[in-house]
Amino acid sequence: MKTFENVSLKKLNTFGIEVKARRMLVVEPGDAVPKVDGPLLVLGAGSDVVFTRDYDGTVMRLADVADVLVDGTCVSAWGGMAMDDLVRWTIDRGLYGLENLSAIPGTVGASVVQNVGAYGVEAKDVVERVEAYDLQQGCMVCLSPAECAFGYRTSRFKQEPGRWLVLRVVYRLDRIFEANLSYKALERLPHASADELRRAIIDLRWSKLPKPDEHGSAGSFFKNPVVAEKDYLSLREQYPDMPEAHPTEEGCKLSAGWLIDRAGWKGRIMGKAGVWPNNALVLYNAGGCTGDEVVALARAIRDDVFDRFGVALECEAIII
Ligand SMILES: Cc1cc2nc3c(=O)[nH]c(=O)nc-3n(C[C@H](O)[C@H](O)[C@H](O)COP(=O)(O)OP(=O)(O)OC[C@H]3O[C@@H](n4cnc5c(N)ncnc54)[C@H](O)[C@@H]3O)c2cc1C
Repeated sequence: MKTFENVSLKKLNTFGIEVKARRMLVVEPGDAVPKVDGPLLVLGAGSDVVFTRDYDGTVMRLADVADVLVDGTCVSAWGGMAMDDLVRWTIDRGLYGLENLSAIPGTVGASVVQNVGAYGVEAKDVVERVEAYDLQQGCMVCLSPAECAFGYRTSRFKQEPGRWLVLRVVYRLDRIFEANLSYKALERLPHASADELRRAIIDLRWSKLPKPDEHGSAGSFFKNPVVAEKDYLSLREQYPDMPEAHPTEEGCKLSAGWLIDRAGWKGRIMGKAGVWPNNALVLYNAGGCTGDEVVALARAIRDDVFDRFGVALECEAIII
């Protein structure tokens, strides 16, 4: 395990916000998880967080190590490994099921915290179990998908911040490749092999999102809001150009990107934070922005969308 004092987090958050942590611990596979006194933040690759201040406590990370074990079609990956490295690793070895999650920034551990999803697949669809360290009880726990309480971009790990360190995720994959093209935008993508589909998805993804090495962001900043059917129908009557809602168990899932775009925010810049010109759901660092500027922009958008449509937007990104 490595320890650092007074360390810059600028390269450890994809928004590229300049903040410091008082202490940082980097845990390697096989290390005993240390007991930490005082405030503790578990951090992956920082691709879904917005830092608004220095962190006056300990940041704990898992080393970025490609440590993968295979048992039949079950793949157990170290939580600190980059999720996209795992996607490529599995495809290269003829194990399928993760290809739609190609090029999502971040780590394997956070993939279950956030229940990441893209193009019709969510982490929960392929998770077999999660091996996590309970930082409160000081013991290892193996959790089934039901115990992980997965939801839309959430999980038990996200609901109980500070309690869990996800050390390994076991995914159940398939030896036979069957392209999942259920998401409309994928219908026409080439998919003769998993690798071909992966490459097409990566191209599609970067046509809509800022590349982290070019513009800082956290990907989609807001969740798509879910409203009652009667509210959706009344909005559709008022705005016939509104995209059709996606039906879910909780209600009708609207496009947050459309609401923000329709409210006129696409491409706008406030301070040094902006709304991505190709995708209104993405807030980005327009040049040396602070976390407070991102939060101020997000608040202005949320208030405006609520005033116009009566729909409350919830942040997907985690404000620290
Ligand atoms: C350009 C861009 C595109 C994106 N596209 C998508 C997308 O298509 N779909 C999607 O779902 N997300 C997307 N995201 C968001 C982000 O990639 C995911 O949320 C990712 O899972 C975050 O991983 P991370 O390692 O960076 O986690 P971090 O941002 O570091 O942390 C996120 C949360 O997880 C916790 N955490 C991290 N690691 C662990 C661990 N080992 N144990 C316990 N808790 C932990 C943290 O405390 C924090 O609460 C995108 C982000 C960017 C920048």
